Amino acid sequence: MIYLDHAATVALCPEALEAMLPFLTEQYGNPSALYESGRRARQALAAARKSLAETLGCLPEELYFTSGGTEANNWALLAMAEAARERGDKPFLVATEIEHHAVLETLRYGKRAGVLDFALLPVSREGRADLGAAKALLEHRPALVSCMGANNETGTLQPLRELLALCGERNIPLHSDLVQVYGQLPFGELLGDALPDLFSVSAHKFGGPKGCGFLYIRRGLTIGALLHGGAQERGRRAGTENVAGIVGMAAAARAAHAALAERIDKKRRLSELFFALLREGIPGLRQNGSALKRLPGHLNLCFPGVSAELLLILLDQAGIAASAGAACASGALEPSHVLLAMGCSEREARSSLRFSFGWENTEEEVRKAAAIVIDRANKLKEDAAL
Ligand code: PLP
Repeated sequence: MIYLDHAATVALCPEALEAMLPFLTEQYGNPSALYESGRRARQALAAARKSLAETLGCLPEELYFTSGGTEANNWALLAMAEAARERGDKPFLVATEIEHHAVLETLRYGKRAGVLDFALLPVSREGRADLGAAKALLEHRPALVSCMGANNETGTLQPLRELLALCGERNIPLHSDLVQVYGQLPFGELLGDALPDLFSVSAHKFGGPKGCGFLYIRRGLTIGALLHGGAQERGRRAGTENVAGIVGMAAAARAAHAALAERIDKKRRLSELFFALLREGIPGLRQNGSALKRLPGHLNLCFPGVSAELLLILLDQAGIAASAGAACASGALEPSHVLLAMGCSEREARSSLRFSFGWENTEEEVRKAAAIVIDRANKLKEDAAL
């Protein structure tokens, strides 16, 4: 298989596996227990928290372990709406139209449940949040603004530094889904030297295990719990901690940060090579999203006149893993809400595929995959024209 779907998930890295193994076997103590093996698990959690905080320049106690990015996003949005209600403020939230479903569906759920209201911030044709529209929405004094760091479908980087400044001046808290950014890009490039008030991270995007992540909560921010029960995570996130997962996440984060610059360079070279090869072989091929302000390994491409769904099937048969919009209940592909928000027609959205490169991909794989994509896409276009 040639794996070109690194934005969906990546393999567990060897450093994470090695760090996790003892906690999946002999060191199974509950970190809340008072005896020796519990103490060891507790120490391992503290060490993981400290090491993750070092990659961010924040305090260890500002990190709250979760079951991943989805939980962290649910927590940030629902608990900030709840905090607003408790203060007697309007639980009104703002998020961009291109957020991950873990944000958008949480907002829709909250509205149905009558616990919040929200407005969506439009994006430009390039897929970047519209700062003029953001300023207008900030006049309504939302309880929280949520803007992702980089979009998972297009890789387009968002104007977070500017949004942080706009929210900061007005004392409005900002949450960012940084699931596609942490471990992939230095935060400084996107954020300057500040951090959002809250942000979400998921381990399986950077070599850690699935089902593990964290929510950063700035010290002093008033926010309640999402999960209620025991006193874990300073009473803010109940449930026995996923010790092996957390230890693995910290090991993967260390490995990813140690090789960050080298990996960025490799992914950028591979994605640029792939795009150049495809452009030569496929007339009318277009890139969705910003060509410059994007994650180095992401490419979202529109193949005019080609069904992305059929192309995906042919690529799978040829051993290439890529991705299109999300599947709906019937299994058919829904046109991507991200591409539609950027002004693509439904037809263009249904002709678009995401290729996401990892640092483990080779130039040989890229050349081989490009030749297959060119062949299949051109054949599908010919068939459709008949
Ligand atoms: N947010 C973004 C931008 C993502 O890409 C993903 C993963 O697909 C998530 C949230 C969800 O993270 P998790 O799979 O850890 O729940």
